[in-house]
Amino acid sequence: MLQHTSNCGKLIVRDGWVICPVCGKGKLLLTRPDTAVRNLPRKCKRCGQETLVNIEAPEPASIVTSA
Ligand SMILES: [Zn+2]
Repeated sequence: MLQHTSNCGKLIVRDGWVICPVCGKGKLLLTRPDTAVRNLPRKCKRCGQETLVNIEAPEPASIVTSA
């Protein structure tokens, strides 16, 4: 029997860092505004819990073009 745990909680991103949702302190991954991640397992250095990081790609609607 597979253990299916779907963590639907929203990830906290602070200063570009994905914050561990388990302990709320560990930094899991450094992201950029255009970073897209799908089911990337990252282990928190603080609490040791593994969290799947999901970051949807932003819509390419607001493309800044400097003339
Ligand atoms: Zn943690």
